[in-house]
Amino acid sequence: MASERLDAAVLYATRGWRVIPLHYIRHFSEFATCSCRHGDACKAAGKHPMIASWRKVATTDVSLIRLWWKAWPLANVGLLMGGEARLVTIDIDGEEGRASLAKLEATNGPLPVTLAQVTGRAGGGEHRLFRVPTHLEIDRVRNRVKIAPGIDVRAEGGLIVAAPSIHPTGTRYRWINDKQRVCVMPDWLFKLATSPKARQEVISTHGSRPPEDKLPPLSERAQKAREELVSGRVAPAIQGQNGSRACLHAAIVLIRGCCLPPEVAYDLLWKLYNPLCLPPWSEQELMHKIESAELSVEDVSWGYMIHVDDPSPSGRVYDALLREAQSFGTDAQTLASATPQTVHPVSVAGEAEALYSATRETARRPPPLDDEDGYADDPGDDLTRYDEDGEEIR
Ligand SMILES: [Zn+2]
Repeated sequence: MASERLDAAVLYATRGWRVIPLHYIRHFSEFATCSCRHGDACKAAGKHPMIASWRKVATTDVSLIRLWWKAWPLANVGLLMGGEARLVTIDIDGEEGRASLAKLEATNGPLPVTLAQVTGRAGGGEHRLFRVPTHLEIDRVRNRVKIAPGIDVRAEGGLIVAAPSIHPTGTRYRWINDKQRVCVMPDWLFKLATSPKARQEVISTHGSRPPEDKLPPLSERAQKAREELVSGRVAPAIQGQNGSRACLHAAIVLIRGCCLPPEVAYDLLWKLYNPLCLPPWSEQELMHKIESAELSVEDVSWGYMIHVDDPSPSGRVYDALLREAQSFGTDAQTLASATPQTVHPVSVAGEAEALYSATRETARRPPPLDDEDGYADDPGDDLTRYDEDGEEIR
C-alpha cells in the first residue's frame, strides 16, 4: 500500500510534475489523526507538506523522491501546481460546485475531457487538471477560492493532494480516468480564473468590504495607513519570530483597517514595510498576505482604523484579530519545524543526514519559475486557512 504512493509519486515526476511528500492520516476515528504534531487537532490532516520550504524543494528528481518515501513510506503525495508542466487544477466541491460548473458549461460550452480525480471528500469533490497553453500568461492564474460557488483554482504556488493519497474520511483520492492526458485549459476558463470580477465576487461573498462611496477619500485612507506603518506599531516580520503573523497583521491593518484596495495596500507594504522585514517577502508572498487579509479574516471588521461604522461589539475586533493571527503563527511554526531534521529521529534515524542534505541541495537549485526566493523561510503561511470541511482555502 505504501509503495503505491511512492510508485505514483515517481510516475508523476516522470511526467514532469513536481512532487512533495505530505503528512498522512495516522489513525481514523471520529477525528482523523494527522502525522504532524497537531495530531487529531490538525485542520488540514493529511494535506500539508512534511518539508519546510516545500514550494522550493518540490521536485521531479526521482532519486530524491525515493529518499523521501523511504523516510516517510506512508506520506501522501502532493503535486505543486504551475511549473514547466503549467498545471492548474480546478477544484469542484460537492453539489454546489457541480451546479456552478453545469451553469458555466451551459454558457460557455462543456469543459474538455481531461485528467480528473475524486478527492474522497464527503459530498463528492473533484479535481480537474489543465495545462495553461503557452500563449496565455500562466502567472495571471492565481490560487483563488470560489471563482464560482464551490469552485476553487489551484495554480502556481498551490498544491493538490493526488491519488492514491488517503483523505481524512479514509477514502482514497482516485483518478477517474488515469489514461487521460492533461488537456489544455480552454480560454473561457482561463478568463474566468483570471478575471477581476471573479475576485470581486469572492470578496462580496465574504461580506462587508464597504463600497468606495461610503468610505473616506482614498488619499486619506492611504495617509492613515502610511502613518500606521511608520509609527512602529506594526511590527516587522522577523524570521523565526512569528514573521508570518506579523506580516498578516500588517496586511490586515491596510486591507481591513484602512479599507485600501489591494493594489494600494500592496504598494505600501512593498515600499514601507517589506524593507523592514528579515528576510523581505517576495512579491507573491505579500500578495498572498493581502489576499488572506481580504478573504479569510471574517471576524475582523472592515474600516476599524478609519471610523467606518463598526457593527461589532467593542473588543471583538481585536480579539478576533489576535486569535486569527495567533492561529496563523502557530501553524506556520509547526510546519516550519517539520523539517527532515526533526521528523527523522522518529522514523529512520540513520538516513537523516543523507535525506536532509539531498533536500537542502534541491532547495539551493534555482527555482523553476520566476519565484525569486521560493518562500523558503515560511512554509506555513498559506496552509492556515481551511473551510468547514477542512479543505484548504487559499
Ligand atoms: Zn497535520
